Amino acid sequence: MKFFLDFLHQKVPRDRGEIPPYYRRALTASEILQAVYFLVCFFLYPLINSRWEWIPILFIAATGVCLWAVKTQKTRTNLILYALVCGGWVFWNVRHFGWSSGVQHFLTLMLVFVFFNVYDRPLYKIIWFVAILSFRILLFSISQHVPAMYKMEADANTVYQTVNTVAFFLMLAVMCVIFSTSIQDTERELRLKNQTLHKEAGTDPLTGLPNRRAMIEQIEQHFKENSDQPFSVAIADIDFFKTVNDTYGHNCGDYTLVKLTELFKEHAMGRYSACRWGGEEFCFFMPGMNIDEAGTVMNDLCFAVEKMELEYEEHQFSITITIGVEEYDFNSPLEDLLDSADEKLYMGKNAGRNRVVV
Ligand code: GH3
Ligand code: MG
Ligand code: MG
Repeated sequence: MKFFLDFLHQKVPRDRGEIPPYYRRALTASEILQAVYFLVCFFLYPLINSRWEWIPILFIAATGVCLWAVKTQKTRTNLILYALVCGGWVFWNVRHFGWSSGVQHFLTLMLVFVFFNVYDRPLYKIIWFVAILSFRILLFSISQHVPAMYKMEADANTVYQTVNTVAFFLMLAVMCVIFSTSIQDTERELRLKNQTLHKEAGTDPLTGLPNRRAMIEQIEQHFKENSDQPFSVAIADIDFFKTVNDTYGHNCGDYTLVKLTELFKEHAMGRYSACRWGGEEFCFFMPGMNIDEAGTVMNDLCFAVEKMELEYEEHQFSITITIGVEEYDFNSPLEDLLDSADEKLYMGKNAGRNRVVV
């Protein structure tokens, strides 16, 4: 009993809800189209001299139950109801009008629903597949051995088969559009989410600057695309930053880092990109610049930092930075280049700070 209930309800990942939205959309669209199709049959039967027009009405009612189930029931219950209505309609048609009514194509719609039910187990899909195939073969063999209950005129048969074919193609097209659009949407959503995550993972939350990982990626990417172009890097460290924190508080230290970032952005003017290397250290990437050009730009920046007036609560103060610059030698790994810039930075610290070492 528990197995049967589990099968009927079919567990889907919790965050996707009981019935996935794309599946709900496809079922609703398909069942509305089915109801319209049954209504067409209801008006068509008297014209093709069939006295069975109450049967489509019965199926319209059954479709109403299916539509109610889409709103309230879980995926597999819906699939079973859909299969019952679809299978019942095909069976009744083949028995009454014969194989040539062309209604057996509707079984294909069941297959589409079974296989696009992405959360279902492959075993269940195979069982569905075998069941639908067996049903179709059985129906065909019955139709070959037992004559249809109602013999349609050739013209009526043509009209009925055309209606069935058009209805089938229309439903198939609508379902395929819904499923493929849902796949495209999901794919696009994932791509955007991935981009956001990648950006967040490479961004320093305090300053909004790229972090060390993102900067290394950026330099490597640039080098890959412009392998014959010179470039320089620089590493800067705030002088006596611990004193800023100790004197004015940690929040003031954070404020200083943010203000310094604003200055970098203003000063860069497309000549370099800055990243937060860690703590109170920053790294600059200067594409297309040799060490002399980079040295000039960094000297200018060093001067601009010294001139920047900072004001936090009632405190007015200024800071200085020390910078080490290095040019790529087209030979050493990037790591060595950054180590060399770092060594120069510490040379600058030892030499008295507030300076650029090239
Ligand atoms: P030096 O001139 O030798 O670089 O001296 P310094 O005081 O800048 O160097 P030190 O390495 O002694 O201290 C760095 C300080 O930077 C210590 C740490 O608390 C502070 N710091 C690092 N990251 C942050 C941050 O995100 N916010 C704040 N407020 N302080 C930070
Ligand atoms: Mg430091
Ligand atoms: Mg420092």
